[in-house]
Formats: sequence, C-alpha cells, structure tokens
Amino acid sequence: MSQPGTDTATVTREDVGLTYQRCRWCGTPSFRRLLCPVCASSDLENERSTGEGVVVRSSVVHRYTRLARNESLIRFPEGFLYRCRVVGAEPHLVWIGARVRYTAEADTDVTAGEVVVELCDPAMRGGDWA
Ligand SMILES: [Zn+2]
Repeated sequence: MSQPGTDTATVTREDVGLTYQRCRWCGTPSFRRLLCPVCASSDLENERSTGEGVVVRSSVVHRYTRLARNESLIRFPEGFLYRCRVVGAEPHLVWIGARVRYTAEADTDVTAGEVVVELCDPAMRGGDWA
C-alpha cells in the first residue's frame, strides 16, 4: 500500500467547513465568484458549508508538477460545484460518486488557494483512518 504522503501539511482540523456565497437576490449559491452566476448581482452573502461533497467528474492532472494528482469537480449539498484537489487515494482511484470532505486550502506557491478535499470512505484509505 503506498501512502498519499501529501495530505498532512495544510490540514486545519479546528476550522471544519467551507465558506461559500449565496446571492441575496435570487438565492443562487456560488463559490469564489465576484458575481452571482445567474443574475450577475454582486450582492453576495457568505454562508457556511459543511464541506462534504460528492465527486461528479474525476480527472488526473500533471500540471505544475511531475507528480500526478487528482482534480475533481465536486458537488456540494448547498448547491454549488467546484474543482477541488482530492487526496486520500491514488489520483486514478478517485471515482464518480465518491464522498469527499473539505480539509484545507493548499498554501504552497504553485497551488495557492486550491481547495483540498479528502475521500470520506475509510476503506479507500488502506485502513489507516483515524
Ligand atoms: Zn443572483
């Protein structure tokens, strides 16, 4: 079993959850947008997501680094989608429909601001879930 090895440095356990924006006019949720994607209003209100979502599209990328990593499109229950980096499994083993949980924002130079989520299913972590 190989270890992921890259998902420990930036995890902040006390601050669980994810801040997203909801339009005050039409109620559309969005994430990291300046304007509402539906009505283009800039009157957005911050709300808190549990940060638990589901993979709707999984892709392995090699951008910025020679190491493969997974960037999947995640659907959050509050109604927005965002492309996140998935850790906790080999990049090619992240499957559609997998449950994930927000862990942290990456803070290295090349990946600043990237949202990192980890797989929820302990079975996929090789039994080392704590
Ligand atoms: Zn709106």
